[in-house]
Amino acid sequence: MSLSFISAGTLDVPVFAFGMDVPDRTGLARFVPAPLVMTAIPMTIGVLRRANGEVVIIDAGLSRAEIAGPIRELGLQGLTMAVRGGPGVSAVEQLKARGIAPEDVTTIVATHLHLDHIGGYRDFPRASVVAPAAEFAAARRLGTRAGYVHVKEILASGRSRPVLLDREPKHGFPGWLDVFGDGEIVLLDARGHTAGSVAVLLTDRASGRSVLHAGDAAYQPHEYLSGKPSFFARLTRFREDWLKQTWGHLRNFRSAFPETPVLLSHDPRASHDLCTAFRL
Ligand SMILES: [Zn+2]
Repeated sequence: MSLSFISAGTLDVPVFAFGMDVPDRTGLARFVPAPLVMTAIPMTIGVLRRANGEVVIIDAGLSRAEIAGPIRELGLQGLTMAVRGGPGVSAVEQLKARGIAPEDVTTIVATHLHLDHIGGYRDFPRASVVAPAAEFAAARRLGTRAGYVHVKEILASGRSRPVLLDREPKHGFPGWLDVFGDGEIVLLDARGHTAGSVAVLLTDRASGRSVLHAGDAAYQPHEYLSGKPSFFARLTRFREDWLKQTWGHLRNFRSAFPETPVLLSHDPRASHDLCTAFRL
């Protein structure tokens, strides 16, 4: 299969902040106050093997070194980036285990440039980083404190590939770009979480099946279905009016293409289902 999904480890987060249900608890766990109940969220990455042998990944998670030593590599932000699973869960190690060398990855398409989505670019020395020019510009302006830890380094490396979306509707979204011109990877304008965040429509060549990787357009599906952002979605969003528009586009997409799964990076259920159905 040319399209697969992996999760580059999980992060422990408070369930309330992400709008998730507090699980039924037994034993001593019953005495933990609800705001302190933690759960594991995935960092879901798409892997597309193209007909010419090149490999494209959608997002990259944190790098191998960042997973091994988050505080050493990321400073204070590393406190919230303790990935479970050890360095073996990094994208580069999971790909290696399936016979894909770091050099085989020629392109990283970023749903957006926050650290938990692009840190792993360091492990793929030949890969260019594709994201809308608006995302690179905002990331450079807002900097490390807004979660854009790697953007200066990516820009200095000469591997950044800022792109402009065509300003006409596609699948209900207000802008789009077919990255390689063959329909395998189509960026759809899903800004709001960040200034230039995209949803990435991926199509498996062999089966014709598609998946929409919507990054952090929401953290959980009920946010865009109900229109109510979780605490963390509100905390991290770039512009709430854009976010709400994007949520409308996601709802319309689901109605128009009910057979195409919509994946949110950190949604445990969708991540598990897609990593199983599209196993690397
Ligand atoms: Zn994220």
